[in-house]
Amino acid sequence: MSRVHNFSAGPATLPLAVLEQARDEMLDWRGVGASIVELSHRGPEFMQVAAQTESDLRTLLSIPDDYAVLFLSGGATTQQALLALNFAAPGQAADYVITGHWGKTALKQVKPYVQANVAASSEADGFRSIPPRPDWQLSPDAAYLHITANETIHGVEFRDAHLDAIGDTGGVPLFADFSSSIASEPLDIARFGMVYGGAQKNLGPVGISVAIVRRDLFERAGQPRADIFDYRSHLAKESMLNTPPSWNWYLLGLTVKWMLDEGGVEEFARRNARKAALLYAAIDGSGGFYRNEVDAAVRSRMNVPFFLHDATLDKGFLEQAKAAGLISLKGHRALGGMRASLYNAMPEAGVVALVAFMRDFQQRHG
Ligand SMILES: *Cc1c(COP(=O)(O)O)cnc(C)c1O
Repeated sequence: MSRVHNFSAGPATLPLAVLEQARDEMLDWRGVGASIVELSHRGPEFMQVAAQTESDLRTLLSIPDDYAVLFLSGGATTQQALLALNFAAPGQAADYVITGHWGKTALKQVKPYVQANVAASSEADGFRSIPPRPDWQLSPDAAYLHITANETIHGVEFRDAHLDAIGDTGGVPLFADFSSSIASEPLDIARFGMVYGGAQKNLGPVGISVAIVRRDLFERAGQPRADIFDYRSHLAKESMLNTPPSWNWYLLGLTVKWMLDEGGVEEFARRNARKAALLYAAIDGSGGFYRNEVDAAVRSRMNVPFFLHDATLDKGFLEQAKAAGLISLKGHRALGGMRASLYNAMPEAGVVALVAFMRDFQQRHG
């Protein structure tokens, strides 16, 4: 078996220990004689997996008791639509700060349901910044204010200082898409009305999303919706309103447990800071051979888009990287160039190898 360093943006690399445990338990989950994916989600075995996963996630993210945790099928995009159906009245204002592709997607999902207001956008500068807070045009009666904590394609991230700067929103709850940065560093959940994300970036496998919701929000009537789109119904049934994606939930549980065993979010914050610093230093120190154009204060630690000075070298870069055991570095088609995703499961050794490859490639092509 040979494993490469996989810089995919999502689905993304998983910890080897998690994959090995899943392999070992695949045919016979802890002596039951069947795989966990073959057992009823209402049986004692899966109920144990579900309860342990929620408990571990609450520990990992220090989720306060007045927040509910939902495990939902459908990706982050589905939650982007459901959050309006559940927490905004028909036609009510909802404010969006757009700092990249996923903010635009979030806005698009709610257009049928709310008065979607672009409170601020950095699109005019190519999504390389976070619009200064004094420029945000907030609606006083908004159902919520939505941000994308980390823009996975454009590589722009809200850090604590930017979240601090949001300050008083006059009682309007802050909703944040944390798909690609959840659990990457300590987070004060109490800042938010809702934190949500698809799992396939930093929490485990694709096919399951997590929504962390301040409980008082469930008192909102929202909009006419089918029971299956009602977060309250999911909550009342402990995220088992219908058959949940149990295999994905199980893998998510293993991944969360691995993060706790490795030292939790404080430890990942240290590792992620080191990894990002290594890669940005290599880009910035390349004399323009490589470049990242995001405002240094808001550069993402999780997703690093970068460009070669000459795009005709891109193909060779990707081929030679692959030959060196470094895969999935092709940038999103919206931007072109390269992108390296440095989620929790990416070891520092992967970034060290990437940086060494980049220096070597530059020497041969500079
Ligand atoms: C990947 C991603 C999404 C979309 O997730 P899906 O599971 O494909 O719906 C939304 N927001 C962000 C920030 C993402 O990184």
